[in-house]
Amino acid sequence: MSSTAFKVAVLGGGTRGPGGRMSQRREKTEDGKELHFDHGAPFFSVSNPEVVRLVHEWESRGLVAEWKEKFGSFDFQTLKFDSIEQEGLSKRFVGVPGMNSICKALCNESGVESKFGVGIGRVEWLDDEKLWSLIGVDGQNLGQFKGLVASDKNIVSTRVAEVTGRVPPLDLKLLPELSEKLHNLPVRPCFAVMLAFAEPLSTIPVKGFSIKNSKVLSWAYCDSSKPGRSTTSERWVLHSTAEYAENIIAQTGLKKPSDITLNKVAEELFQEFQSTGANVSQPFFKKAHRWGSAFPAASIAQEEKCLWDRNKRLAICGDFCVSPNVEGAIDSGLAAALRLRDISSSCL
Ligand SMILES: Cc1cc2nc3c(=O)[nH]c(=O)nc-3n(C[C@H](O)[C@H](O)[C@H](O)COP(=O)(O)OP(=O)(O)OC[C@H]3O[C@@H](n4cnc5c(N)ncnc54)[C@H](O)[C@@H]3O)c2cc1C
Repeated sequence: MSSTAFKVAVLGGGTRGPGGRMSQRREKTEDGKELHFDHGAPFFSVSNPEVVRLVHEWESRGLVAEWKEKFGSFDFQTLKFDSIEQEGLSKRFVGVPGMNSICKALCNESGVESKFGVGIGRVEWLDDEKLWSLIGVDGQNLGQFKGLVASDKNIVSTRVAEVTGRVPPLDLKLLPELSEKLHNLPVRPCFAVMLAFAEPLSTIPVKGFSIKNSKVLSWAYCDSSKPGRSTTSERWVLHSTAEYAENIIAQTGLKKPSDITLNKVAEELFQEFQSTGANVSQPFFKKAHRWGSAFPAASIAQEEKCLWDRNKRLAICGDFCVSPNVEGAIDSGLAAALRLRDISSSCL
């Protein structure tokens, strides 16, 4: 969206900064070392020409770079690394210096005002004024807006109630058609485990690998091998299988996981990583994070790319509209921005 055409307010979750599932996590060890991890999406690939053009523009501004390391897979049946790609099929891009660099740069564009650490508790349509009113989770008035882009399906998801005990921000009755599409959208969870080692894991022949025939692990990535990262330690991020994560959630519920659960998960994923037979030493840092809705398991607006109510100037966008990845989220966000821009001259 051209930020000169509108004044744009970005209001972002309870999180400390921009990024969502493209966040970069900052951790501190007991002895005060600062560590950074891309604990959500490790990289992304693009093929849609419109998105490719945008990514090249970001690349020329130094916001993203290609991650050129070798990737492969590990099979727990044969206990071997195999099908190691010499030439990647499609380019893997990462944000520099963290996956959140794109979102950060968008928030810093002129005409954009950002607020973080504020969850939207309620969005109300003021019919007389034809404006959206946003109210924070603690009841604070966050302002009135001529148009609204909601970038999370949770705006109407009843799953929110299970996690937070609060009703979803948007009243389902206000937009029954859109709400219907978003209702009970299936999602796949994932646990990510962040590891930091004093020495490189030099027996692992690749910097990222998918894992076959494991009920626990699905992927492992060497985060510190990405361009623009600190190499004072070697950092890896492990991803659980969806099946493993679903199992844990079935035992513990959807509420924020306890430290006991997270420690157990961190240990189990690390042990599976060690049992690849690669010479994996003890990390000096190990921590798990739960992504309760890591991947949407359905795409609800592949043609239109976002949900749109012209009368109320409401767009709902995100990866769940197009495809469960960064490219899908960008594609959907672009569609939402275009819808608002197209009506700006007549309505806004
Ligand atoms: C572990 C993991 C691995 C992944 N691997 C890959 C990969 O290899 N390649 C790839 O392309 N993609 C991958 N993905 C998926 C990718 O991260 C997502 O598809 C993409 O980031 C989705 O972007 P989005 O903007 O649609 O949603 P999100 O990034 O989830 O953004 C939604 C935002 O809305 C905010 N929000 C929600 N509710 C409220 C509220 N009430 N008030 C205010 N703000 C709110 C949230 O805080 C969040 O910032 C992975 C994701 C995970 C978790």
